[in-house]
Amino acid sequence: MKEEQVSEKKTESMAHCPVEKKCGGCSLLHLSYAKQLAKKQRMVEGLLHDFCKVEPILGMKDPLHYRNKVNATFAYTKERKIVSGIYQEGTHRVVPVESCWIEDETADAVIQTIRGLLPSFKIKTYDEDTGFGLLRHVMVRIGKKSGQIMVVLVLASPILPSKNNFVKALLKAHPQITTVILNVNDKKTTMVLGERNITLYGPGFIEDTLGTLTFRISPGSFYQVNSVQTERLYATAIDFAKLTGKETILDAYCGIGTIGLFAASKAAHVIGVELNGAAVADARINAKRNKIQNAEFFVGDAGDFCRKLAGQSAAPDVVFMDPPRSGSSETFMKSLITMAPKRIVYISCNPETLARDLKYMTTHGKYKVTRCIPVDMFPATEHVEVVSLLQKMSNTRERTITPDVDQKER
Ligand code: SAH
Repeated sequence: MKEEQVSEKKTESMAHCPVEKKCGGCSLLHLSYAKQLAKKQRMVEGLLHDFCKVEPILGMKDPLHYRNKVNATFAYTKERKIVSGIYQEGTHRVVPVESCWIEDETADAVIQTIRGLLPSFKIKTYDEDTGFGLLRHVMVRIGKKSGQIMVVLVLASPILPSKNNFVKALLKAHPQITTVILNVNDKKTTMVLGERNITLYGPGFIEDTLGTLTFRISPGSFYQVNSVQTERLYATAIDFAKLTGKETILDAYCGIGTIGLFAASKAAHVIGVELNGAAVADARINAKRNKIQNAEFFVGDAGDFCRKLAGQSAAPDVVFMDPPRSGSSETFMKSLITMAPKRIVYISCNPETLARDLKYMTTHGKYKVTRCIPVDMFPATEHVEVVSLLQKMSNTRERTITPDVDQKER
């Protein structure tokens, strides 16, 4: 473990939290940060030791208040007091949260202010069981570098009474807020956000900087929650890719295009694919915003897209893949094996599905896992990110490009 990266004071036990048990999010809070890192290292080694040696985990210097996105759910107590916080695991009961060790402190303060404003604006909180009431959730996103703040009010209806005065009061308390969005979620669902966004103030998105690039983030787009560690995660992924400037890159599960755009200056061409249309719209704007001309982004299922790509001649030389916790699909991995890129950099937020997928790629394809580094994106929680590198063992391309090339490669 890279101990020098962990500041002295944080190696002591992190902190006690009054809602630790009910919330369940920070299951490692009782451990010192050094012990948390050691535990995650062992966990990743346990799952991946059959594939390759696991290099030391990259920990944070300051592992507190790192989350740039905070969601709060609103409800009444039996005494009709308004509370905001998180659902107790597996229930509809809201556990009140005043402050949190891992959330951004300004985001928490914005949520407290909104809670305080509700009675005077006669805004009722939504009841999951009866379907009555208006305010369901508040999501706050902070650009850690840009300082821009997005507030998303998730309502059961598009009508917020006295919305202008509400926004005015909110901005008076927090002039740093740069945009306020009303999101309509009128469905019986456990998803926080609904499909419709109405901008009440500002541009309807925030921008943030990672490395030298600036990214637009819309309310529904995925953006890594720990900005400090994201820069290290992407730097590790790009280092693994060993780009020379000549490669065609596939950025699969690309979100708002961050990894592909990070790699674009070191590659000939970048192709990104992502299921969420709003995120792809952000990715295209992000390419323009950063004057990157060799990147294009497509909406679609990574598996379907890759299957089509495998039938064409423009197969990627290097693939970055960053699927959700459920991991990748067999369709995607089968197509990858057919396209036979030289290197695959697999970024995973779930080492269990990573192990499953690495097993598939190494059993069904001619790939070997050569590097593996855990990155602590989620201090205090049991979660850990892992970057791993799959290298093609021979030069065999199972896909036929031209008979000449094929023979030469064999
Ligand atoms: N690489 C990005 C996003 C990673 S999160 C980043 O670092 O920010 C995983 C992304 O996969 C999400 O944006 C999600 O919308 C997308 N996704 C989920 N299932 C998908 C699928 N079947 N095909 C393509 N993208 C998918």
